[in-house]
Amino acid sequence: MITKEVIEQFRVTPGKKLKLKDFDTGFTGTDEQKRLAKEKATDILDKNREHLATAQNLLYANDRHALLVIIQAMDAAGKDGTIKHVFSGINPQGCQVYSFKVPSAEELDHTFLWRHMKAVPERGRIGIFNRSYYEDVLIVKVHPELVEKSNLPPGPRDHRFWKDRYDDINAFERHLVRNGTIVLKFFLHVSKEVQKERFMERLDRPDKNWKFSLGDLKERGYWDMYQDAYEDALEATSTEVAPWYVIPADHKWVTRTAVADIIVNTIHDLELAYPKLSPEQLKALAEAKKRLEAE
Ligand code: AMP
Ligand code: MG
Repeated sequence: MITKEVIEQFRVTPGKKLKLKDFDTGFTGTDEQKRLAKEKATDILDKNREHLATAQNLLYANDRHALLVIIQAMDAAGKDGTIKHVFSGINPQGCQVYSFKVPSAEELDHTFLWRHMKAVPERGRIGIFNRSYYEDVLIVKVHPELVEKSNLPPGPRDHRFWKDRYDDINAFERHLVRNGTIVLKFFLHVSKEVQKERFMERLDRPDKNWKFSLGDLKERGYWDMYQDAYEDALEATSTEVAPWYVIPADHKWVTRTAVADIIVNTIHDLELAYPKLSPEQLKALAEAKKRLEAE
């Protein structure tokens, strides 16, 4: 496992001013340190995949908690790959992934939290949000004309408007946590240079062409506005009950290992054990065994 101190570096301290520039996107160290770290990270990821499978089983057996994992990032930061690699070992029945796209007309006729409320995981399961209601304070904040598409009553779309949205999000997450859902939020922090490299790869490799979208290039033009929107959102919504983690995303192995480790550690901290049966239940099991043996 990664040490708690390293994990702590990724955590956004609630109530503190946040500058994304203070968070690494890459890995600082010599080439040799990097090679060793990568080897170690791959090992840790493999082990954590196994731990996650066990942890998920315990979550399911206990049927008291759910885990909601929210993943947000700029394009090409590795959301899809992280989900694929971190969750590949777990029972598909205990896990659900939702990828939130541009809202439909029906969704726009409801509040911005509605479609997400319907998708939160039930007790015993892990739910993954690939994008989330945070888009409503990110892309929608960068492109305020999107607010006008959402049929809201008229009113100023000023500082107060966005603050109200952060408050709604915090209240929603607090509600989930109070009712047994653990909420973990990851911002995959990629540099502008690495995003360019990954876009180039999508253009150059026929097997990756499908991943390229001109829209992504357009959004890249708003890079600084997005970084500002992320800073505001993370600062306002990293809470003790539902913290944000800023995960370096220039190296895929760093991202995947860190995300898996934080999830495993969080479930581990719940100290779940398989449910203990009562003496009556144990007696019933013994009787069932006897009946089967007598067949
Ligand atoms: P992808 O994740 O690449 O499949 O793209 C999904 C697209 O949906 C992205 O461009 C998101 O910015 C967009 N999207 C997700 N949620 C919203 C939202 N609430 N309002 C507007 N666009 C959104
Ligand atoms: Mg995309």
